[in-house]
Amino acid sequence: MQTRVLEIDEKSLKEAKNIILEGGAVAFPTETVYGLGANAFNGKAVENIFRIKGRPNDNPLIVHVHKDYDILSLVSHIPEYAKKLAKEFLPGPLTMVYKSKGTVSSAVSCGLDTLAIRIPSHSGAQQFLKYVNLPIAAPSANLSKHVSPTASEHVYSDLQGKIPLILEGGRCDGGLESTVLDCTGDIPVVLRSGLITREMIESCVGKCGEYAYKDGDKALSPGLKYKHYSPNCRTCLFDSSEIKSALEAYDKERANGIKVALLCDNNTAELAGERVVLKLGETQSEFAANLYYLLREGEKIAELIIAIAPEGRDGIMKSVINRLSKACGSKL
Ligand code: AMP
Ligand code: MG
Repeated sequence: MQTRVLEIDEKSLKEAKNIILEGGAVAFPTETVYGLGANAFNGKAVENIFRIKGRPNDNPLIVHVHKDYDILSLVSHIPEYAKKLAKEFLPGPLTMVYKSKGTVSSAVSCGLDTLAIRIPSHSGAQQFLKYVNLPIAAPSANLSKHVSPTASEHVYSDLQGKIPLILEGGRCDGGLESTVLDCTGDIPVVLRSGLITREMIESCVGKCGEYAYKDGDKALSPGLKYKHYSPNCRTCLFDSSEIKSALEAYDKERANGIKVALLCDNNTAELAGERVVLKLGETQSEFAANLYYLLREGEKIAELIIAIAPEGRDGIMKSVINRLSKACGSKL
């Protein structure tokens, strides 16, 4: 199968819609990462998404809809706090989990009685979803366990020959997967951290819980138990207090002929001298936007990425560090 990358216009949207109606998959941009979408009403189309990615079949998908879609046709109850959150943060990088009405294929939620719904703010995503006017089940458009794609070339390099169409939407400026929020209980509970932080949710509706996955849990959000986001090369992670050790590790590996790249913020990069550095930027938002992009750049040029975690664990840094640890978690 030939994979085409097309700018979003009337012609490509028409093609995208035909592919979706025939049960195929289309990659599309969002403000977080690129998604790989299929018609959520079509069980075969949804199963195909799992096959293309090599995704475990107990890791449920998020359904994406345009901003005027009637969500009550998909879920049975939307609590008051969720309405308030939707008003404040949607469209945007927040996925909300509700009790499902069972109208979409059971393959979407892997048999759970809940459904995760997201309304992306990216204009290309909105155009695609509006044009198709169907709920689109979409995980990130990468091979399972590889780094999530934040540019169309990432999707192409993982899925060329496996899908017919990638809608081009430029670089994703959020850069991390959406916050996943359980809205089935009395208060919202963060299942996966993201750019909409627990603090932001609390300041909107007062209370917000946080689910901490422990090994062996019958996962409330099954995706959490999987290792994600890893580049195709060796990686390791140092804390911001261990810069000296990280640089020594770099030099030692380099002396052994290993191609190494450092991944760190711009301030830390100033201490790196002539070493090869992937610069995350200066602000927390830049770290989020650049992390996956640079992990993908790193695996092209290096056999080993030595990451140094930027300082800060509050707000969106929680998500940045969570993804960085999942990608580069092991020590040397
Ligand atoms: P991805 O598509 O790779 O961004 O992963 C989707 C994430 O959403 C995973 O962590 C899933 O566990 C989570 N998710 C999707 N549907 C549900 C659901 N019905 N209940 C809880 N978590 C969900
Ligand atoms: Mg993913």
